[in-house]
Amino acid sequence: MSGKHEMIRVRNLKKSFGEVEVLKDINLEVNKGEVVVLIGASGSGKSTLIRCINFLEIKNGGEILIEGNSIDPKKDDLSKIRQKVGMVFQHFNLFPHKTVLENVIEAPLIVRKANREEAKKEAMQLLKKVGLEEKANVYPSSLSGGQKQRVAIARALAMKPEIMLFDEPTSALDPELVGEVLETMKQLAKEGMTMIIVTHEMGFAKEVADWVAFMDSGRILELAAPEDIFNSPKEDRTREFLMRVL
Ligand code: ADP
Ligand code: MG
Repeated sequence: MSGKHEMIRVRNLKKSFGEVEVLKDINLEVNKGEVVVLIGASGSGKSTLIRCINFLEIKNGGEILIEGNSIDPKKDDLSKIRQKVGMVFQHFNLFPHKTVLENVIEAPLIVRKANREEAKKEAMQLLKKVGLEEKANVYPSSLSGGQKQRVAIARALAMKPEIMLFDEPTSALDPELVGEVLETMKQLAKEGMTMIIVTHEMGFAKEVADWVAFMDSGRILELAAPEDIFNSPKEDRTREFLMRVL
């Protein structure tokens, strides 16, 4: 590929809850096809940052640009932006009374006004991609946590996003189910999806991330290639954090 195509730019982002400033002057750039992994202690602001990028939280200052367009949450159509920027949460939030297939086609039918047959066809392809074709007609309650999370990923992909945000997608899973979800994300990375991933899976970060950002008290304290951040962190706080988790 030649040249960079900027997908996300965060400039001097600030976010407070009441008196508490949770994000302090965040700057971040993510180009097309890049995978950025956010690491950091609980409470450092990782979820708030990606929720701001998806406009689930509204910033108090600074700027968020999606493909070069500065987004004004008061004026811009946020549902359009959320089509472009898909999100997967720690808890999968599938509709329990809908089958796997119905879960995946729901948003395309309602938001994208897709044709039902077309949406079904696409959903089946996505279920195949996440290895759950044969589960199309079952209800979420009969799936394992890892399978539910893979359905959640298929459901997010059904909106044909250009960017995917993941907030600790494997943290609620039994250890033996983590691998299958990481494998699905690895596959997406290989296909060139632009992703920001909050995770404590450092092995995954080493293998898949183009950049690792260490967050500390509402700031990105250090951002570097995985080999640099894991082998020779520049900041003491990064080193201390890694010693605790590695
Ligand atoms: P992380 O994902 O890194 O654990 P969060 O972004 O969830 O961190 O939280 C950062 C800080 O913001 C924490 O101190 C948390 O208590 C606070 N916070 C997050 N969401 C809210 C909210 N809706 N209202 C008030 N405080 C919040
Ligand atoms: Mg969080």
